[in-house]
Amino acid sequence: MLTADLHLHSTFSIDGCNTLQEMTDAAWRAGLRTLCFTEHVDHNPRDTGYGFYDYEAYREAVLQVKEAYEGRIEVLWGIEFSEPHLYPAELEREQQRGYDMIIGSQHFLGKWFFGEREMLEQWPREEVFSRYYEELCAMADHGGFDVMGHIGFPCRYIGDHPMPEDVARVLAAKMVKSGILPEINTSGFRKGYPKTLPDEPFLRIWRDLSCGSVTAGSDAHRIGEPGNGLEQAEDAVRMLGLEPVVFRSRKAVRL
Ligand SMILES: [Zn+2]
Ligand SMILES: [Zn+2]
Repeated sequence: MLTADLHLHSTFSIDGCNTLQEMTDAAWRAGLRTLCFTEHVDHNPRDTGYGFYDYEAYREAVLQVKEAYEGRIEVLWGIEFSEPHLYPAELEREQQRGYDMIIGSQHFLGKWFFGEREMLEQWPREEVFSRYYEELCAMADHGGFDVMGHIGFPCRYIGDHPMPEDVARVLAAKMVKSGILPEINTSGFRKGYPKTLPDEPFLRIWRDLSCGSVTAGSDAHRIGEPGNGLEQAEDAVRMLGLEPVVFRSRKAVRL
């Protein structure tokens, strides 16, 4: 059974609802044995999380929780850095901060978050996806982080869109070259999108072009969510013959 959830948020993220302690306790009760907090670090001025991140306070709280839960649940820490290729100096600073894992995620396209109606007024739906895929490729080329967050993210907001196979191959190859793994993000199941992010076709291509390593994460923002959907992630891992890993001090280790 998959007992490592490597994508969780607490109140150190603008949209997190529960404290580190509460989230860790919920994860422990849900049967998890390893977790990694991945708090939002946002640099787009229109992002609600802009300027919210507090490294010192987060670090201190993580150390306390690690100690309190030692021997019961392994508490790792990291960040989810939005659009890392657009903020290289800020990314470099975060790379020096001793995290276990850095997720790079595309949450915005220009001025807009994927959930904003204005985005679709600016670009037709098809163009939103093609622009999104271009950004993912640029992010993979830039590198400097460990895991690409929730590939296929706009599907959660504007509906399903199969990534063209040639695009998936190019993206997967770029990720291999930069040493970036995909996660199997299960947040869609809570948000009306009944698939993992990325979905099976991308993971199949990933398996064929890479070592097949992946992380899995619920993207939990409140108690009740840690571990959600890991059964579906596990199904994908089994069916496709993928290799679940955990990051410690930014090194991938087999589970
Ligand atoms: Zn995200
Ligand atoms: Zn997240």
